[in-house]
Amino acid sequence: MAKHRISCVVIVSSDGAVQKPVGILTERDIVQIQQLEIPMRSIRDQEVMSHPLIFVHPDDSLAMAQQLMKDYQVRRIVVIDYEGELKGILTDTNLSQVLDPIELFGVLEILQHRIQKLTHDRDRLLPDEHHHILSALANNEFQLVYQPQVNLKTGQIVGVEALVRWNSPQRGMISPAEFVPIAEATGSIIPLGEWILQQACQQLQQWEAAGLPPLEISINISSRQLQDHQLVLWLKQILEELQVDPSRLTLELTESCLVEDVEHTLTQFKALKQLGVSIAIDDFGTGYASLGYLQHFSFDVLKIDRCFVENIHTNAKNAAITIAIIRMAEQLGFSVVAEGVEQQSELQFLYEHQCYLMQGYLISRPLPADAFVAFYRQFSALPLPLDRD
Ligand code: C2E
Ligand code: MG
Ligand code: MG
Repeated sequence: MAKHRISCVVIVSSDGAVQKPVGILTERDIVQIQQLEIPMRSIRDQEVMSHPLIFVHPDDSLAMAQQLMKDYQVRRIVVIDYEGELKGILTDTNLSQVLDPIELFGVLEILQHRIQKLTHDRDRLLPDEHHHILSALANNEFQLVYQPQVNLKTGQIVGVEALVRWNSPQRGMISPAEFVPIAEATGSIIPLGEWILQQACQQLQQWEAAGLPPLEISINISSRQLQDHQLVLWLKQILEELQVDPSRLTLELTESCLVEDVEHTLTQFKALKQLGVSIAIDDFGTGYASLGYLQHFSFDVLKIDRCFVENIHTNAKNAAITIAIIRMAEQLGFSVVAEGVEQQSELQFLYEHQCYLMQGYLISRPLPADAFVAFYRQFSALPLPLDRD
């Protein structure tokens, strides 16, 4: 599956003349099936573990199917029959490769039901979630942790990435991967994002008051925040109020932020640049955006995702991808930060290929503000025995 970068596989019943989709396998299913060692051929609809992704009615137009695939970020659907034979590929840009329109209509029908279910779930659950996030914000249940970023050339901590956590009295510590998408969908990411920006800037001041040098800080911004017309104005106000030099602030965006309303995003980019903050592209290479966006948006920093850094010293593909990213960033005039460095050999490899900025568990996990101060002070004892010849 990974080989063809397939989002999901549609199982088609080939009984009789009419082919009918009976289920969809997602990548997660495939992993589960492989773990259980169930032969692909024996899978029937009742054994499909995930619900189909999206449903569309047979009478709906192809344009609508395309729109829905875009909305739900399904990029490619591969239609196979029970024998595993490829019947066609449905992509967001090319629906015409599907061999038989009947199959396409069947697929569209599945898509429609899923949309209905998703819409229903969303309408039912989102108002509650919105309320939960807003009350958690009012109750001070959110907290920022800070992961040090290091310059391997100087061996110094140059800054931190601020990462949000939800410390819920009922549910314990909740990961941002769980609640940020909900905060995005409900719009509560706007007040939450404002709190994060303000909190992070205040933290810079407090660290300076505690005797730390002026550090840089990276803050993650979600797509909805970037679309918010108030963002620049509001950020300007915070920076002025707290007297934080904008050049110390980097906003991290993911590729998905760049495919929505490109014109408005470009305007926001210009305004942010004018304000003097830096912009980083986070998780580079893992989204669905084409490289074309690099022509239009001028970034300052490119962050190499952990999936490319992992075992870089032994995984030839990861090594090739990372080296290419480092070279490209250099040519385009961006600095590069490697994320998720866990092993000394990964760090050594990055250093040898002139990627000097990095963060990862090898140096430190994200830390609460106080623990960061203690960590900063004893940092000279860091495991950075690099061969600097
Ligand atoms: P990200 O911005 O790419 O952040 C890096 C994630 O990788 C963090 O997870 C961090 O704890 C983790 N990480 C760092 N070093 C290592 C390592 O060596 N090994 C491994 N396995 N993981 C490492 P976290 O904090 O759970 O955040 C996940 C994602 O949630 C972030 O990915 C970011 O997209 C989002 N997020 C976090 N905080 C915020 C926020 O304040 N606002 C918004 N909009 N999104 C946020
Ligand atoms: Mg980030
Ligand atoms: Mg990242």
